Amino acid sequence: MNESRRLFVKSFGCQMNVYDSRRMADTLAPRGYVETASAGDADLVILNTCHIREKAAEKVYSELGRVRRLKEQAAAAGRRLMIAVAGCVAQAEGEEIIRRAPAVDLVFGPQSYHRLPELLARAERGDKPVDTEFPLDDKFDRLAAPSAAATRARGVAAFVTVQEGCDKFCTFCVVPYTRGAEVSRPVGKIVAEVERLVASGVREVTLIGQNVNAYHGDGADGRTWSLARLLERVSAIEGIERLRYTTSHPRDMADDLMAAHRDLPKLMPQLHLPVQSGSDRILAAMNRRHTRADYLQTVARLKAARPDLALTSDFIVGFPGETEADFAETLGLVDEIGFSGAFSFKYSPRPGTPGAEMADQVDEDTKSDRLRRLQVAIDRRQAAFNRTCLGRTVDVLFEKAGRYGGQLVGRSPYLQPVQVTAPASMLGAIAAVTITEIASNSLFGALAHAPAREPALLGAGA
Ligand code: SF4
Repeated sequence: MNESRRLFVKSFGCQMNVYDSRRMADTLAPRGYVETASAGDADLVILNTCHIREKAAEKVYSELGRVRRLKEQAAAAGRRLMIAVAGCVAQAEGEEIIRRAPAVDLVFGPQSYHRLPELLARAERGDKPVDTEFPLDDKFDRLAAPSAAATRARGVAAFVTVQEGCDKFCTFCVVPYTRGAEVSRPVGKIVAEVERLVASGVREVTLIGQNVNAYHGDGADGRTWSLARLLERVSAIEGIERLRYTTSHPRDMADDLMAAHRDLPKLMPQLHLPVQSGSDRILAAMNRRHTRADYLQTVARLKAARPDLALTSDFIVGFPGETEADFAETLGLVDEIGFSGAFSFKYSPRPGTPGAEMADQVDEDTKSDRLRRLQVAIDRRQAAFNRTCLGRTVDVLFEKAGRYGGQLVGRSPYLQPVQVTAPASMLGAIAAVTITEIASNSLFGALAHAPAREPALLGAGA
C-alpha cells in the first residue's frame, strides 16, 4: 500500500481542463495521492493552465511565484513539495517554464497526462522532465478511470471528453498549436466511460471537445460515427437522463446533428455555438470559414428542429481591422438571434498565431468600449430570455446544496442555475419546478409537486 500523499490541482480555463485535472487526480490515486483543497498542505501542486485568456503565461508565472513560496515554507518544515505545470501554457512554453521558474519540477502538455506517473518518478529523482510531445498512443486508454467513490463525490453531472484538438486554425486561436490536430475517441470507449459514470449515480453527461461537433470516431460496426450517431448511442444508455455537448463550430453543424435536436428527447434544448463576430469581413479575417448568413441559417434550422432551443455564444471584440461598422454588425446579430447568454472578450494577440502579426490592431480603449457595449446587449437579451421562463414549469436536475439551509441548486434544461427550497434527499433527482423569480445570474423556483416519499439516491446503482 502506498503512503498517502496530498495533491492540489488548480484548473484554469475551459471544461476540458477541469476534466483533464480530474483524470490526472484519478491517475495518481493508485499511487497514494489524495486531493486536498489547500495548496499549502500539498505534496504535489499541479497548475493545469489555459492559454486562451490575455497574458496567460504571465499569470502562470505569477501563480508560480506564490507556489514557490509554499515550497520554501514546506522545505523549512522538512517537507518536499513538488510543482508541476500542465496544460496549454506548458505546451506553448515548454523548457522556458523551468528556466524562468526553477522551482518547477516537471512540465507536461495536454497530450502527456497519462505519462504523469513516470514523469513524476523522474522528477522525484531530481530530473526536471519536460514533455510536450504529441504521442500517437491513446492517452485516454492509459489514464485511470475514477473510482466509484470519486465519481459520486463529483456529483450527478459529468463531462466526458470525446474529441480533442482542432484543425480549423482560426487566426486568433492557439488551440491547434497547443492541443494538436483533431482526434476522436472510439465510440466503445466513450460508451464504457458513460456506463461507469451512470453506475456511480451520474444522470447528466456533457460530451466535450475543442471542436466537439467535428467528432468522427470509430464505431463498433467498423464505420466512422458522427457526433449525432454517438449522441443517439449514449442516450440509449439506461440511467442517462440528460445529454449536452460543447463546444461546437458553426461549420460542423451537420444535418444529422440538427435532426438529433428534434429526435433525441434526452438532448437538452441548449447549445453553445460560438460565432465570434457578426461581420463577414472580420469572420473572414478570423478564418472562421462561415458567414453571418451561414450562421443565421444554421440557427434557423436548429430552431426549426427544436423551437425552444436556447443558444449561447462566444464573441471577440477588437479583432485587428474591426471598424465601428463591423462592431455594429456584431451588436445587430446579438439582437437578431436573442442569445440566452454569451461569453465576450477583448481580442488579445497570441504569439505564433496569424492574428498577432496582423496590421491595424485595435487600441485598448476602443476594445474596452466595445466590450462594455456588447456586454450590455448580451445582458439585455439574457434577461429577456430569463423572463420568458417566469411562471413556466421546467425540469430541474438538483446538483448540490444551496448556500442557505433547505435549498438545493440545480440546472434547468437551458442550463440556467435554479435555486429551490427542497429536501436534501432530492439531490440527484430531476423534478418539475415552477420558476417564481428571476435574478441576474440565476432563477428561483418552487417544486411543482410535493417531494416523493422515496428519496432519490445519489449513488443509486453503485
Ligand atoms: S475552431 Fe475553436 S478551437 Fe479551433 S481554432 Fe477556431 S477557435 Fe480555436
